[in-house]
Amino acid sequence: MTTPEFDPTVYRTLLESTRAIPWKIDWTSATFAYIGPQIEHLLGWKPDSWATVNDWAERMHPDDRAWVVDFCISQSQSGADHEADYRALHANGEYVWIRDVVHVVRNEDGSPQALIGFMFDISERKKTEHKLLEMQKQLEDFSFRDGLTGVANRRKFDAVLEEEWDLARRHTQPLSLILIDIDFFKQYNDQHGHVQGDDCLKRVGAALAAVAHRPRDLLARYGGEEFVLVLPATDEAAARSVSERVRQALFKAQIPHGASPVSQLLTVSQGVGTIIPAASDTLTQFIEAVDRRMYLAKQGGRDRSESGAA
Ligand code: GH3
Ligand code: MG
Ligand code: MG
Repeated sequence: MTTPEFDPTVYRTLLESTRAIPWKIDWTSATFAYIGPQIEHLLGWKPDSWATVNDWAERMHPDDRAWVVDFCISQSQSGADHEADYRALHANGEYVWIRDVVHVVRNEDGSPQALIGFMFDISERKKTEHKLLEMQKQLEDFSFRDGLTGVANRRKFDAVLEEEWDLARRHTQPLSLILIDIDFFKQYNDQHGHVQGDDCLKRVGAALAAVAHRPRDLLARYGGEEFVLVLPATDEAAARSVSERVRQALFKAQIPHGASPVSQLLTVSQGVGTIIPAASDTLTQFIEAVDRRMYLAKQGGRDRSESGAA
């Protein structure tokens, strides 16, 4: 079978009716030999306003310009076909995400003679990508948050504490931990009901959230009626003063607890510990030591904090 003679105007019609925008740049003169008329629809600039490669470079987002231009020049010089995603400037001042796919036409000696390519509008794809990233961030945030109180959850606590433990060891810095357990919370539920109990936990979470305010400090819900504060780069004395602030914050919250044998108001018992982790120390042992102190505080009469030696 013989191929029938092909009318070149068919090529032109094809090229100019696709959504991709064809173009050709003459390498030596660095000028546009051709650009598809669709460019006006996409970017608002008239086809004859695309004269030199400077028109192309200047109609690019300033943050993309340097790397895109450098990349395209070096790829073209080495004769490699390539593609680049960048934001092109629309005549109305907005930016449109473009994928430029470039083929290098070479002279016999290998040097570039011309670049021909297609520009694709990828703004929809970029929007979807952006939305997906946002959703991913939101999901991650949800997965690290306690559903009831809104403070960080146990998963977040585990991750942060492990990270801070490594940092404290590496930099020989003190790391402090405060375990906070509500006193007689079972009686609170018994007297006020579980729904009120939940509400009380929310109030405690909110009161404690304001206590530690350094950027790396973390408040998390550790268990049912237990909260925990991770205090990086915090020595024993500073941790004790944060623990005192916990007591004050709860007092300020004035949550009545009629069934508590120790106070008219809701109180907590706290275990406070500080460590500069040595190679032989383990995180589990540290948490257990702080937990033991919390129980000492319970045994000592509750509504207090215990911060002896680890
Ligand atoms: P102690 O002073 O020794 O800490 O006594 P306690 O009653 O606070 O401690 P215990 O461990 O005996 O009971 C904890 C109670 O906390 C029992 C449980 O029902 C309640 N609790 C745990 N999680 C939640 C929750 O999400 N909502 C409510 N309303 N109650 C909870
Ligand atoms: Mg408890
Ligand atoms: Mg308790």
